[in-house]
Amino acid sequence: MIITSSSYKPSLDTLIKRINRHRRRIYKLITASLLETLDKITPEQLEFIINYGEEVLVPHISTLYSYALEYGREDLIGYLQYIWDRYGRKSPIQCPKCMFNSIMPDLSCIVCGYVVKEDYVREKLGFDEKFREYILNASVAELREVLDIGFVLVSEIDIRSPKERIDLSTRLYFPIYLKPYEINLIIEEIHSRKLPI
Ligand SMILES: [Zn+2]
Repeated sequence: MIITSSSYKPSLDTLIKRINRHRRRIYKLITASLLETLDKITPEQLEFIINYGEEVLVPHISTLYSYALEYGREDLIGYLQYIWDRYGRKSPIQCPKCMFNSIMPDLSCIVCGYVVKEDYVREKLGFDEKFREYILNASVAELREVLDIGFVLVSEIDIRSPKERIDLSTRLYFPIYLKPYEINLIIEEIHSRKLPI
């Protein structure tokens, strides 16, 4: 087979792409093995791991963040944040300490362990407005349920009763305990529909 210069170039490109693809896969495998076997990660190893690990990094995000902090590698922390948003459990609430989108429904940060107050979650998820909308649209039966339970579940898009079936794998829901004036708002809403409590 004669390879002319015009047909050779594209095939070389293809070959390089293929090699790069394999290389990325191999680097990722090395990363996984390093993460499993190393007791202590050096700055050089950390750089390699974070640059090539992709989704492999997610279960180790907290450890890797600690190392990057220890070695003063702000750039690697920035890249870890990107990896977390892309492959991890991206939260609608950013941690005020490590700045990852990583506050979980128990109010703690899955990356750095910082714990936020419920009021912080209320503010970040725009709870007041969502709550007003929620009580207008919920059925009286559901409002009564919420009164009994004393809390609701809020996500970045809506509020649900804790008794509802919710697919928790697709969206994070945060429990918010109702304040006395919010309980009053529910009671008023039930009254306004002319139904006995
Ligand atoms: Zn944090």
